[in-house]
Amino acid sequence: MNITSSIQAFEEAQTLIPGGVDSPVRAFKSVGGTPLFIEKGEGAHLYDIDGNAYVDYVQSWGPLIFGHRDEAIESAVCDAVRHGLSFGAPTLSESELAKEVIGIFESIDKVRFVSSGTEAVMSAIRLARGFTGKDDIVKFEGCYHGHSDALLVQAGSGLATFGNPSSPGVPVDFTKHTLLAKYNDIESVRKCFEDSDNIACIIIEPIAGNMGLVPADKEFLAELRLLCDAHGALLIFDEVMSGFRATLHGAESITGTTPDMVTLGKVIGGGMPVGAFGGKAEIMAKLSPEGPVYQAGTLSGNPVAMAAGITAVRKLRSNAKLYSVLEARAKRLMEGFAEAAAKHGIALKTDVRGSMFGFFFNDKPVKNFDDAAASDLERFAAFHAGMLSRGFYFACSQFETGFICTQITDEMIEATISAADEVMGTL
Ligand code: PMP
Repeated sequence: MNITSSIQAFEEAQTLIPGGVDSPVRAFKSVGGTPLFIEKGEGAHLYDIDGNAYVDYVQSWGPLIFGHRDEAIESAVCDAVRHGLSFGAPTLSESELAKEVIGIFESIDKVRFVSSGTEAVMSAIRLARGFTGKDDIVKFEGCYHGHSDALLVQAGSGLATFGNPSSPGVPVDFTKHTLLAKYNDIESVRKCFEDSDNIACIIIEPIAGNMGLVPADKEFLAELRLLCDAHGALLIFDEVMSGFRATLHGAESITGTTPDMVTLGKVIGGGMPVGAFGGKAEIMAKLSPEGPVYQAGTLSGNPVAMAAGITAVRKLRSNAKLYSVLEARAKRLMEGFAEAAAKHGIALKTDVRGSMFGFFFNDKPVKNFDDAAASDLERFAAFHAGMLSRGFYFACSQFETGFICTQITDEMIEATISAADEVMGTL
C-alpha cells in the first residue's frame, strides 16, 4: 500500500503542529508507523490522501454510528448552515434535542449542551460539587473523562488513594481532591470513603471504552449506588463514548443502576462538536442562571451541531432494531477474531456491548486497567499494522474500543475476519 503522501504530510504537519496532530492518539505513537491523512469518508470507508480505501472501525472515535456522510445528517446540517452558523441566543433546536435526550434517558430531567465531552464532564463535576457542597471526587484507573486538570491523575505511591497529576502542567493542588479507585473493585471504593468524608461524586464509565472495552460488573455498579446513597455523594455515568453506542437508553437501562447525572458526547453530535450533561431536576436547578453554579459557552448549543445531533438521535430512536443488528455484527467480528486467534495459538480476549467491541491480546479476563495493561502491546501493534496494510482501519492503541456503524455489512465483517486470520498467522 502506497502511503507516500501521508508520510510527506505528516512530516510537514510536525513542523507546524506539535507532533503533527491536534489530539495525541492520532499520531499512532503506541503502534508506530505513520498516521494516515484522510481525504474523505463515505459510508463505512475512509479514503486517505494517497487514494487508499479502508473499512473504518474507528468512526471518528465513536460519533459516526451511521457511518460517513449519512444523507439525513448531511442535509440537516446544510439546512441549518443556511440559517446562520451561530447566534449566541436560544434556538428551538436546543429544546428539540433536549426533549429527545430527556425522553430517552430515564435519569435525565434536564440537560445542558456544551461543545465537547471534556466540557460535559468538567461541568458535571462542578455541579456535583456545588450541589453537595463537597470537594473530593472518585475516579477509576483506566477511565478517561477528558483532559481537564482534576481528571488527569494517576495512582499515587503506596496505598494512597489520592491521585497525582499524570501530566506536567497540572499542579498537585489541582488533583488533591481526586481519589483513584480500581475498576470493578468495590473495596478500593470503600477505602476512598474511609479516607475522605468529603466526597461529592463518583464518576465512572459504566461501560469503559478508554482502557479497551471493559464493562463494569452489574453488582459493582449497584454497590457504587449504595455507597453514594450512604455517603450523600452523587453517581455520575460518563457515557460520552457508550451513550447511544452500547444501547439506546443508556447504560442505566442494561445495568439496572440509575445514576444521578449522565455525561454525553460523540454520537449526540452526529459528528459535530457536542457534549451534554444532564440529571435530576433538583441537581440541574443549581446550574446558572437558575442556580449559583457557573457554567457557560459561546458556541454551546450551536444550531448546526444541534441539527446533526437531533437527526442522529431521532434516527436511532425510530429504529429500535438497529442495536441488535449492530451487536450481532460486532459479535460475529469478535467471534471470528477469537477463532482465528485460537487457530494460530494466540491468546485473545474479546467483548461486545451493542456497537462497541474490544479485543485484548491477553490470556486472562480483563476487569480493570492493570489487567488491560498486561496485554501484549507489541502483538497488538503488529496486528494493527497488518490490518491497516490490508485496508482495515482499527483504533491505533490496545487501550481503545472499536465501533460498528450501520454501513458495515456482513460481507465487510467476513472480509475483516479473513484478513485478521491472515495477519494472526504472521504474528
Ligand atoms: N469521557 C469519555 C468517556 C470519553 O471517551 C471522552 C473522549 N474519548 C471524553 C470524556 C472526552 O471527550 P472529548 O474528547 O470530546 O473532550
